[in-house]
Amino acid sequence: MKYYILFGPPGAGKGTQATAMVEKYNLHHISTGALLRKEIAAGTELGLQAKALIENGCLVPDEVVEGMIESEFKTVTGVDGFLLDGFPRTLPQAEALDQILAKTGEEVTATVSIMIPDAMIMERIKGRALKEGRADDASEDIINNRIVTYHNQTEPLIEYYGKVEKYHEIDGIGTIEDVRDRIFSVMDKF
Ligand code: AMP
Repeated sequence: MKYYILFGPPGAGKGTQATAMVEKYNLHHISTGALLRKEIAAGTELGLQAKALIENGCLVPDEVVEGMIESEFKTVTGVDGFLLDGFPRTLPQAEALDQILAKTGEEVTATVSIMIPDAMIMERIKGRALKEGRADDASEDIINNRIVTYHNQTEPLIEYYGKVEKYHEIDGIGTIEDVRDRIFSVMDKF
């Protein structure tokens, strides 16, 4: 199985690009953000716990998302691999992922990072807010908090995967097709 991590700041276009990636490489897309939003919509206990954190631009506890990921790995079949979108987002999550995969003698295949400058994050998310109506896209304060959370908690993963030569960064500026082709040229190597 291939295990690709789709990395990048909020608003980089991960969700948009994921669709083309899963289709071309027969992957199962796991977006922890989308799974959490589904729990909130269904009014589950987990959703209730996650709601306030998400709506303030904070991360939910590591154990919550790690459990979600492991259960998806166990239940989904008939694919050539998984595309992890929005996970891992902290060093402990990255270590937990390594441990989960080690149980079956597997490892992360590659991290594909879509990079855009901070100045573009706000603009992109505001555009998305008009289309998708996500609660955590609704205010500049919340978006700023997510940017700070990204720099403090998620950015250290660049070094984590860089050290093992699994970090591949592509320029996220350009048309959806341009960015998609850059992603494909990285993924074609694996
Ligand atoms: P996303 O759709 O990836 O932008 O995620 C939306 C929100 O869900 C994030 O701002 C977090 O509050 C929460 N979330 C998603 N993935 C994770 C994760 N791996 N760890 C912690 N919180 C997460």
